[in-house]
Amino acid sequence: MISDIEQDKINMVVTKDLSRLGRDYIGTGEYIEKWFPEKNIRYVSVNDGIDTFYDNNGNNDIAPFKSILNDMYSKDLSKKIRSALHTMQSQGKWVGGRTPLGYIQDPEDKNHLIIDEDEAKIVRTIFNMAVAGNSVGTIRKFLEDNNIPTSDQIRYNRATFWNNCTIKKLLRREVYTGVTIQNKRSRISYKNRKLRDNPKEQWFIVENTHTPIIDKKTFDAVQKMEIVQKYNRNEKKNYTLLDGIMFCYECGHTIGIKLDNRRKTMNTICNNYRRNSKLHLCTCHGFRYDEIEEKVLEYLRKLFLDIDSKKIEINVKNNRTAYDYKKMIEKNEKEIELINNKMDTMYMDKLDNKISEEMYQRVLGKYKEEIKAKEQENIEMKQYQHELEEDNTENITKVVKEFLGLKKPTPELMRVIINKIRLHQDKQIDIIFNFKELNKI
Ligand SMILES: [Zn+2]
Repeated sequence: MISDIEQDKINMVVTKDLSRLGRDYIGTGEYIEKWFPEKNIRYVSVNDGIDTFYDNNGNNDIAPFKSILNDMYSKDLSKKIRSALHTMQSQGKWVGGRTPLGYIQDPEDKNHLIIDEDEAKIVRTIFNMAVAGNSVGTIRKFLEDNNIPTSDQIRYNRATFWNNCTIKKLLRREVYTGVTIQNKRSRISYKNRKLRDNPKEQWFIVENTHTPIIDKKTFDAVQKMEIVQKYNRNEKKNYTLLDGIMFCYECGHTIGIKLDNRRKTMNTICNNYRRNSKLHLCTCHGFRYDEIEEKVLEYLRKLFLDIDSKKIEINVKNNRTAYDYKKMIEKNEKEIELINNKMDTMYMDKLDNKISEEMYQRVLGKYKEEIKAKEQENIEMKQYQHELEEDNTENITKVVKEFLGLKKPTPELMRVIINKIRLHQDKQIDIIFNFKELNKI
């Protein structure tokens, strides 16, 4: 556009609003106040009602302020989206997505939980059995024998089975006493699905946000019982290097580690096979765990030594497009451009009296909304893209150095590096890294 103006090919510039001309004030002001008048360019901003052709158009005086606001708006918006979520959570509004078994979203207010009596009965059964001293295994067997459906079966008609872990987790959920606790864990970033634990100061704990299913006395009693206390994510996590990040390639379920008491060895096993062995849903996937771990560590060592010698930065930068954000943003920008063209044409039609003012305003409103939604999406995506690009070079370098510096890596470091390990029934191992760049190597 600039070169067209320089060559006197254009004498008018039309944009939807000021933000189309430039995102920062200095650039926008430069155009409107100096460059356009110098070049004799008529500038029209449809939404802001600015038309430099009309000298006495009062709106022109506001132009500099509007572009300052545009500038602040884009910087601030992504922060606001996050803080809006936290505001909701601090008010005890349910924003956690899938509701716990026993509760559904209130049709009048989707951020409020109400009891679903059929599901709540299952929850009460589980708590009552636990408080009466039954083991998790006994509770599970009771649920199975009585064909009591899991929440996946009730809600999605998915064939899943009760397992000990689900029951233990359910018994620990304070939500059943009418408390809403949120922000316990949060995602590291939009594309990185890994969750990190937040310190307790960051939790939002609000009491009496919904009707309890379990009274506080029963709940507290159960918390003191052995079956609940045995379940501790962190303890289990530290058990072995790969426990919790291994998955079955054939069926997608987790791969567990089973102790063979006779031979004093640890073996892998597909948990789907273990729990439902009679149903033949999967095969055993039973291998010596030590061998699997050694294979993985050896692979990482080789890969990291190679990366270290080649200078990590080069590797990472070449693979930057591993993220789809760029494409998504470009697609959105093209669509915005198309809508803008339509708006410009429509403005011309209005100037030529081809369409009525009323029609113009109506369609304009629709276009504005479409553009706003797409722009908002792009602001978010740009931030994620930025975060990822900035993070990774530095992080991979750090991780590689840390790994190579240790005789044996810690389980925590393994979880930073590896997203999951897929174990095939023929003993093939796939490693999926948390750093997309490494997945491409
Ligand atoms: Zn399996």
